[in-house]
Amino acid sequence: MARAILFGIPVSPGIATGIVRFMHNAPHDEEKRISPEAVAQEQEKFRVVVEKVRASLSAAMQNVPEDLAEYREVIAAQIEMTRDPKLVNAILSRIEHRLVCAAWALKLTIEELCALFRDMDDPYLRDRAQDIRAVGLRLREGLTENPSRNSSGQTDILIAEDISPADVMELDLDCVQGILTEEGGPTSHTAILSRSLRIPCLAGVTGLLGIARENEQVIVDGLGGRVLLGPDQNDLDRHTERREEYTAWENFTLQTCTWPAEMCDGVRVGVQANLERATELDAVLRSGADGIGLYRTEFAHLSARLPTEEELLEEYASVATGIAPLQAVFRTLDVGADKMLHAQIALKEPNPALGLRGIRFCLRHQGIFRTQLRALMRAGASGNVAIMLPMISTLEEVQQVRAILQELHQELVAQKLPHAPRLPLGVMIETPAAALICDALARECDFFSIGTNDLIHYIMSIDRSNRHVAYLNESLHPAVLRSLKHIIDAAHRKNIGVSVCGELASDPLVLSVLLGMGVDSVSAAPRFVPGIKHLIRQFDAESCTELAYNVLLSTDAAASKRMIYEKLHQSLGPELFFHTTSLFTDSLS
Ligand code: PEP
Ligand code: MG
Repeated sequence: MARAILFGIPVSPGIATGIVRFMHNAPHDEEKRISPEAVAQEQEKFRVVVEKVRASLSAAMQNVPEDLAEYREVIAAQIEMTRDPKLVNAILSRIEHRLVCAAWALKLTIEELCALFRDMDDPYLRDRAQDIRAVGLRLREGLTENPSRNSSGQTDILIAEDISPADVMELDLDCVQGILTEEGGPTSHTAILSRSLRIPCLAGVTGLLGIARENEQVIVDGLGGRVLLGPDQNDLDRHTERREEYTAWENFTLQTCTWPAEMCDGVRVGVQANLERATELDAVLRSGADGIGLYRTEFAHLSARLPTEEELLEEYASVATGIAPLQAVFRTLDVGADKMLHAQIALKEPNPALGLRGIRFCLRHQGIFRTQLRALMRAGASGNVAIMLPMISTLEEVQQVRAILQELHQELVAQKLPHAPRLPLGVMIETPAAALICDALARECDFFSIGTNDLIHYIMSIDRSNRHVAYLNESLHPAVLRSLKHIIDAAHRKNIGVSVCGELASDPLVLSVLLGMGVDSVSAAPRFVPGIKHLIRQFDAESCTELAYNVLLSTDAAASKRMIYEKLHQSLGPELFFHTTSLFTDSLS
């Protein structure tokens, strides 16, 4: 085929070359009519396929490695779907009443259900459309009796509209070199899984299914966000060389990950890890992180039953003792917006991102909050635990939490339960209100962590999950930069530490500016920790300060990007291309 370049969102870094393998057969669905006499046979054929798909999903579940155990839940949800009468009966009934073949009845039902979920306000439920589509693809494949999901035994680049974690778990991972999907984004299940498995992956590759051809050669550039279909020899040579360089660089950063992140002029920066589940602790320990800068505690609360204090204690204590003597910063429950508790869904807030989220929810529902705080205080007896409050916008919120902690301390003393009487208490600075009163907040708490993911969205007044305004997600907007500087200076005036735990921390271009503004530490996904530490060791504080000074003077974000890029390209050379950045994807190619 002719050489073609497509662009996508790089969700798992690395470069891979291989041949196109469509993950799912894409049979041409057409409305095939059947006679009333054929109905029973067609329904039976469908029932048999449902059984087979359920059996293969159960087998896939057995293949999930221990440290990725959370994916079992995703596969279990898909198994449940194959039992769901809403899905199965709707298809059987369509076959009978519309006299159509099973494949057509399946197609109509899946489309209907996906549309239903896609239109839901709650992003968690919206994401369920992905699971329905995944189950639908499997059933469709079963009905066509020509499955092509098996790997070719060669170096495959899997291509699909979307790929579910169950699909990935069924593969011969030794043969799969890369994954490309038309749908999905950086937070999809497959994106997270491919990062854990270290498979280069691009999501949201527009036009992919229409252009790619089975067995054709393809290059996945998970660093530059590009797909090269039908590459020529020159492309192949260039990317092989780049892949070798990238692998050598990654190995080097891993070998040196325990070295301190100290800039050339001796200024030391903390590099910690962000964590979502206790099962990821091993990855943190291997990354050389200086502790856990952000433990997102929401996940235990997202299933139908709320966790008990003992369950939370077990989870928190395992993390705290596992990372000790280093510190684990636990962020208290940040539900709302894109992570809803079952009870919250019923609230139907008109604008949940501006609603009862984070600390607002916790102070309203103190039973849930107190259970979590007690578990954290008790975990503090055996590890180095700190508490961090999300979505703070008033001083009173912090004061209220301090009062609750004091009450809980009395309670635990009375119950003779071992606990830490006073844990360090920090706040996330992620609302414009918190940014503007950070001098007052700095008097009330022990540390700040800047949640740039939210802070930028709230400063720019854009909804985090609204792609129409995603172009305004501008980390170098003067309003963002000035806020960051204001927060860092306020923390330092009160002698408290300030960290950045949003995604910006792993973007090399922005990192240099953050360091120049004086941030004490950064916290990022474990995978990025060794690279960030290596990068910091090549910066010098004085140049970073000068860069930050110049960028802060500018009111032109595009000019700031150019300035930082030129400076870093000069000092780091090609190594800059081994880091993923949300800025300048085009210039990095
Ligand atoms: C942030 O807002 O930057 C952050 C780290 O928290 P989360 O992404 O969980 O909202
Ligand atoms: Mg946040």
